[in-house]
Amino acid sequence: MADKVLTVCPYCGSGCQLHLLVDKGQVIGAEPAGGRTNEGTLCLKGHYGWDFLNDPQILTARLRKPLIRKNGVMEEVEWEEAIQYTAERLLAIKEKYGPDSIMGTGSARGPGNEANYVMQKFMRAVIGTNNIDHCARVCHGPSVAGLTYSLGDGAMSNSIPEIEHSDLVFVFGYNAPETHPIVARRIVAAKQRGAKIIVCDPRMTETARISDLWLPLKGGSNMALVNAFGHVLVHEELYNKRYVEAHTEGFAEYVDSIKKYTPEYAEGITGVKAADIRAAMREYAKAPTATILYGMGVCQFSQAVDVVKGLASLALLTGNLGKPNVGIGPVRGQNNVQGSCDMGALPNVYPGYQDVTDTTVRKKFEKAYGVELPRKKGYPLTEVPHLILKENKLKAYYIFGEDPVQSDPNAAELREALDKMEFIVVQDIFMNKTALHADVILPSTAWGEHDGVYSSADRGFQRIRKAVDPQGDVKPDWAIISEVATAMGYPMSYANTEEIWDEMRSLCPLFAGASYQKMEEQGGVQWPCPTEDHPGTPYLYKGNQFSTPSGKGRLFACEWRPPQEQPDATYPLVLSTVREVGHYSVRTMTGNCRALRQLADEPGFIQISPEDGADLNILDGEIVAISSRRGRIMARAQISDRVKQGATYMTYHWWVGACNELTADFLDPVSKTPELKYCAIRLERIADQAQAERDVHESYQRIRRQMNVQEAVLANKVTR
Ligand code: SF4
Repeated sequence: MADKVLTVCPYCGSGCQLHLLVDKGQVIGAEPAGGRTNEGTLCLKGHYGWDFLNDPQILTARLRKPLIRKNGVMEEVEWEEAIQYTAERLLAIKEKYGPDSIMGTGSARGPGNEANYVMQKFMRAVIGTNNIDHCARVCHGPSVAGLTYSLGDGAMSNSIPEIEHSDLVFVFGYNAPETHPIVARRIVAAKQRGAKIIVCDPRMTETARISDLWLPLKGGSNMALVNAFGHVLVHEELYNKRYVEAHTEGFAEYVDSIKKYTPEYAEGITGVKAADIRAAMREYAKAPTATILYGMGVCQFSQAVDVVKGLASLALLTGNLGKPNVGIGPVRGQNNVQGSCDMGALPNVYPGYQDVTDTTVRKKFEKAYGVELPRKKGYPLTEVPHLILKENKLKAYYIFGEDPVQSDPNAAELREALDKMEFIVVQDIFMNKTALHADVILPSTAWGEHDGVYSSADRGFQRIRKAVDPQGDVKPDWAIISEVATAMGYPMSYANTEEIWDEMRSLCPLFAGASYQKMEEQGGVQWPCPTEDHPGTPYLYKGNQFSTPSGKGRLFACEWRPPQEQPDATYPLVLSTVREVGHYSVRTMTGNCRALRQLADEPGFIQISPEDGADLNILDGEIVAISSRRGRIMARAQISDRVKQGATYMTYHWWVGACNELTADFLDPVSKTPELKYCAIRLERIADQAQAERDVHESYQRIRRQMNVQEAVLANKVTR
């Protein structure tokens, strides 16, 4: 009989608890557990996403030994040599160019909070820079910046289980069934209990399909729509005057900013009928409890922070904060992107969202770490290509559990930047496109092979547990980073993850009471949890006391700005990058699971409208060529009447149909998050489909060969 090991799913911020079934040292299955957020349910990634631990080499092989590039070729080496070499190269670069010439990442995926804590400590105390960031920069960075401004905390104000008890769920730019299936179940449950569902999304998503009101706005018009919502609330006197007076600030400026955004004016920008804008806000304002949920359709625009503040203002205007079953929920995408932010893998804050420019805070960390710490903020991840290619400021990059060549915009420019760097360390579990540029590859344990804590999207710390021994000569991420630190002259020696966690808690008032023991006893702890006897906090702002400097919520509106790159005669269509339910992030984990790979395969899809398909003479399922000002790729056409004419959608999981060869790196000016939801492209029919299929196959095999997949596996001669 298989052993059962209780842990947390590694695939999205829903934080579902599951049991891994282990037999003879191998994971053979998974069963749902009764976690706070999933209550005995899992989606298909939770059920079948464990298989990569068995290394089936579908996409690529697990990394099993450290590698160093020697004479242009990656060679296996012993750990001692890899650690020593990494330490020497980093020390030499720090000595020659200064600590700010080195950049590092945290990892929002499998490693866990403790590894992120150790990584930020390494960058700050050992390298001596605040140049640490991670993939939150390309997703919910605007939520952290916007909600911190408006309410005081860059996180969901409510909890995932509360969603289904809300009387109205207001979904903006968020496709829960694809990104967080278990959150989607809560939305469906809310509807079954009688809640109204309102969806703002250009595409007919599954949530839009079951909604009471769908507002199909034009891509890139979010701020105009949010302003018009505010206009209706104010001018129809639907807002909660007593609440606004007592608990908010900036009302007069807000009213001034939304003055011209009548529903009719906004209709001209958004394409949403003025009557529907009014109807949406009348329902939102009259619901006894209303919850806003939003996602990448808000955050991946160059005006994202403004829109986050605008959405928070709707909750403030109607008093939908500070009590159960209301609030605003930026539902974080990857399993631990909330956690890597919590742990300070960001260039402007230490763990627990403590400002690096605050002298009192800095001195506290200096005392704990025993060294002077840098005083200025570090670089955001999305500025790395510019800092290398245009400003020549970065010389080394320690990339930990990320694959920016696959996940970040404008891949060609990023590759050019990486090739210009003097030294690149990649620490990961699989070969990936970024690792092809590495000088050193440090192989680490995966989820299922180590202990730790993840943070769910609703601020929930939960324990993850080791189920199996790793195959190969690999180490936990925190241990590798500690060894590099020690070799650089800063001894770091933790016995286990709990010791790291306790050090972190001692420095972070927000998390101080969230001990391992409490997580064991309660099944998890939602922060804030300031003391040992505090149970944690399901929803924020009880008593409408906000964490802003004045304790009040800040209202905000401003002028709408159109997206940066507009379609034209050469590139007449708009591309938006989205997610699909069976795969996760850069796909190295889900793509190496036998059950999940059956759902979809290379080169991936591009969704287009029937009208555009007819205009371009493209049939459903055909391979098409797609180009933008930055690159050209192939993908399979998926003709869908859920898509508006002129709009196209691709997921970013695919190696051949890699949409980030096309995307642009225009950034939000505050959060520096790229406009991944909007760039101009051209679509072309390929007449010789048989040749196109061969080209796709060859490119896929070429990439897998680069990743060291064995020839016998490539030829399907062995089955693992
Ligand atoms: S909803 Fe997210 S956390 Fe839950 S099982 Fe699915 S992928 Fe895992």
